[in-house]
Order: sequence, then C-alpha cells, then structure tokens
Amino acid sequence: MKRISAPLPPGSTVGILGGGQLARMLSLAAARLGIACHIYAPEADSPAFAVSAAHTVAAYDDFAALARFAAAVDVVTYEFENVPGETAAFLDTRVPVAPGVSALRTAQDRIAEKTFISGLGVPVAPFAEVSDLASLESALARIGRPAVLKTRRFGYDGKGQTRIQADTDPAAALGEIGHQPAVLEGFVRFDKEVSVIAARSWSGQVAVYDVPENHHENHILRTSTVPARISSGVAAKARDFGSRIIAALDYVGVIGVEMFVAGEEVIVNEIAPRVHNSGHWTMDACHVSQFEQHIRAICGWPLGSPERHADVVMSNLLGDEINRWAELAAEPGLHLHLYGKREARNGRKMGHVNRVTPRQA
Ligand code: AMP
Repeated sequence: MKRISAPLPPGSTVGILGGGQLARMLSLAAARLGIACHIYAPEADSPAFAVSAAHTVAAYDDFAALARFAAAVDVVTYEFENVPGETAAFLDTRVPVAPGVSALRTAQDRIAEKTFISGLGVPVAPFAEVSDLASLESALARIGRPAVLKTRRFGYDGKGQTRIQADTDPAAALGEIGHQPAVLEGFVRFDKEVSVIAARSWSGQVAVYDVPENHHENHILRTSTVPARISSGVAAKARDFGSRIIAALDYVGVIGVEMFVAGEEVIVNEIAPRVHNSGHWTMDACHVSQFEQHIRAICGWPLGSPERHADVVMSNLLGDEINRWAELAAEPGLHLHLYGKREARNGRKMGHVNRVTPRQA
C-alpha cells in the first residue's frame, strides 16, 4: 500500500474511478482548491467529464489504460464501491489509493463487512451466510422471519435483495436474487434510518458531521433532514460507531455509514466507502462539504470544520422531477444542484436540492 509522503499542493491531480454525480461534485470541490481531477470511467457520456481537467474512457480491466492513468495522477480515489478488487490492487502498486484497498474489500462483501463491524462491538442485524437452499433454510430457522436476503456483493439502492415474509418460499427468494452468494439478515423494526458521514486523514485526524435522518422510497434515498429527530444519546452513539469504524479500517477519505434507529438502539446496516448521497446537505449547510473534505483528506490537507451553520432538508430529484428546475431555481433558500445527465430515466438521480433555514438547534 502506497501512502502520500507530503501534502499534495495546489496544482496536483486526483484520479477518480467512476464518472457519475459523486465524481462530478468531487471534481468541482477539488477545482476550488486548485486541484485538478482526472476521471476514469467506461461510459463515454459520464457526468463528471464536463467539469474535470482530464478523462479516460476505458474499461476497469484495461490494465494498459490504468497504468497510463496511474502515471498521470498523484492519488487515486473512487466514487463507487464496486470497483473491481484487482483494479484497485493494480493501481495501489503504482500510486496511493484512498480509501485503501482493504477498506474497499471489506465494504464490498456484506459478510466481511458485518463480521468486521460486529467484531468492534458495534451492533448489526443478526446475519448468516447463505450459499444454497439448505443454508438458507438453516439460516431462517436460526434468524426467523421476516428477514431480508441480500447478495453478498454488488447490491445498491435495494437491488440484489428481497424480503422473506412468513409465507415466502425460500427457493423463490433465492431465485429473486439470482442464486448468488448471499447473506440472510434479521428484519430490523426500525423507527428511523440515519447515517454518519465522517472523514479521516492520512495522519488519523477524524471529522464527523451531524447525523442526518434519511427517508427512502422504493429503496432510493428521497430526503435527508438535519438535525435528525433523534435523542442526543442516539446521536452520540451513531457518531461513536462511525468514528470507531473509520478508525479501525485505517481509512482515508469520507465514509458513509448507514444505520437503523430502534428506540434508543442504533444498528449499523452498511458502509459506503465513499462520499454518500445522505451527505449532500453538507454542501450548503456546513463550512466544508463532504466533497471538499474528501479531497482534503486524500490529499493530506488538514481536515476542514464539519460544523453545521444551518438546518437543512436535502431532496433528491429523481427522473423527470428535474423538469421542475425553473420553479425550484426561483424558490428562496433553495440550493439547486444538477448533474448534467442527458436522459431522465425513471428513478435516476438527476440532481438534488438543499432547502436551508437558520439553525435552530
Ligand atoms: P441496503 O441495500 O442494505 O442499504 O438496504 C436498502 C434498504 O432496505 C435500507 O435502507 C432499509 O430501508 C431496508 N433494509 C435493509 N436491510 C434491512 C433489515 N435488515 N431490516 C429492515 N430493513 C432493511
């Protein structure tokens, strides 16, 4: 694993794997600090290209293109957790990669992730490994119903998971997720979903943002509200769990940790080893946004203050909701962020808005 030996000065170049909206917002934040971004993505129409100094269109297993990319940048990061392990490992031999390859591998596999988190004494839902019908049946006997069956890898926004109710046929549930290696999780009867957005630097400095309360529809994030309507005890627990996880991973960059709140209990659902949709509110309600914080962290700069100066509700603009842009742009106190995607497919994240009001608490 390579580390940076000194802070990367303005004029340096950050390489980003993936060219979606997260890379786009990272690139915009980096530009403000005089740091250029070079985006590496297989799709020729990636939203980040329009705002970045350089880009490469190539597959993640094109090792010649990856070698040229590594030679052109000072540090590599990524905007999505499904970066192939071999791609990250190849780059890691040539240039510092942050967050590191081992954090990436942990977050990519739900069994490794849950084993790691519960090993820290941080609660997760009861879980069991599932590889076939027999192991699913024994897992159901142990964990009970309702339960959630999730693929070990490549799940996001509710994809690759299915609920097992009292009357669900286990074989059909396995079919739903394509008979892939999976984890069975006990169903958590949560009151709320929250997340912790935190950053850690190469030297171990940690900054944690206020806890947003997240509302999902059809498994896709709709809104994040800050402050969350949770007790100070729950907020402190959530922040403590986030801080323990980021330190134990020896992590560099911004992390998103999704959690369930049930009464005064906090249960970790999953880790996203990247900037996170539930941190978009930081762009307009904090001194330093999660995007700038990530760039600062991976470039070896001092972390910025995560302090929040406003109350805020972030709402995603999905699909054709983007057509309301003119009306939204006219709304006082609203900050509009559009991702420059040409096609407004159903449910696609096209932009978000932050509605900011004076801080009350
Ligand atoms: P995930 O892909 O793990 O982020 O799950 C997507 C969404 O499914 C979560 O945000 C929850 O709303 C729901 N969910 C996932 N796992 C569980 C669980 N064990 N119990 C209850 N709801 C869950």
